[in-house]
This record gives sequence, structure tokens and C-alpha cells, in this order.
Amino acid sequence: MAIRLNTLQKYAKEVYERPNIQNYLEVNTKKFPYTKVKDWYPILYESGTCGVETAGQIWLNPNGKEEPILEMSSWIMVDRNQAKRVVRHEIAHILQFVCELNTENWHGSGFGEALRIVSPTLHKYSERSDRGWHTNSNIEKERRKYHRLKKTDGSDKLSAKRGGSTE
Ligand SMILES: [Zn+2]
Repeated sequence: MAIRLNTLQKYAKEVYERPNIQNYLEVNTKKFPYTKVKDWYPILYESGTCGVETAGQIWLNPNGKEEPILEMSSWIMVDRNQAKRVVRHEIAHILQFVCELNTENWHGSGFGEALRIVSPTLHKYSERSDRGWHTNSNIEKERRKYHRLKKTDGSDKLSAKRGGSTE
């Protein structure tokens, strides 16, 4: 089932305000004071596509002048569970950013630590993991409107894989 942007926006705020995330931020924020980052749930907007493999991408302001912006690919919004997964994944990047958890590698150990806080039961690699999004026929149908060719078709056999990671 599809999800509307304003429903997903409410979900993003609700996730970010969870006590375990807020407690972690309060203790571990380094880049900016907690008084600032506590309200930094991502502001969502929808753009047709962020890229062939990119279901969503977070825009972080290094000067802390504004809250993070989360750009969502329209094609992932046809599946509310996957769209929510992308939101959790990107919120983990916010934690990684403000707590300075190895931001040299956006999907390395620092990201793993952040995702463990945001998604305590879905942080490990698996078919249900928040490490990346997972495709299905509805998503593929919608994604094809924007991208005729993609790695999952085997058009690039060197990196062919199912689904793909969020940015
Ligand atoms: Zn990512």
C-alpha cells in the first residue's frame, strides 16, 4: 500500500522523538548541542527519483543552520513499509552526522552503531534489514517509469543485486 508524504512526515517525527533515540542524542551529540539537535527530525519532500538505486537521500547542513532535509524518490512511496524503512535508515545518518560516528564512511561501522539505536531489531543485514530497501513488483513497476534500465535487470552484471541500498 502506498503512503502519502504527510503521513510519512509524521512517522519521521515520531521515530526521531522516540526516547531511546533522544537519550542517545543527549549523551552522544558532538557536532552541535543537544538543545539544537533534539528537534532535528528530517523535513521530507518528494522528488520523482533520487537515482536508479536511491530510494531516499538525506541532506545535512554541515554548519547546522537548518534541519536535515530528506528527499524521497516517488517510486518508493508506493510501498509504505519500504518508505518507512528508508526514513529509519536516513534518521540513522542524522545520528551518525551529529554524533560524528565515522562519517568518512557513510555505510561503515559508525552507521552500524547509529542504525542499532534507530532500528534495534532491524539493523543487521537480512531480507528485512534497514541497511537498505528491498524491492517488490509494485516498486519495480513504479521505478520503471523513471528508470528503464537498472542493475537489477542484470544490465550491469558486475554489480547486479536485488534491491539496493539507500544513500
Ligand atoms: Zn545510507
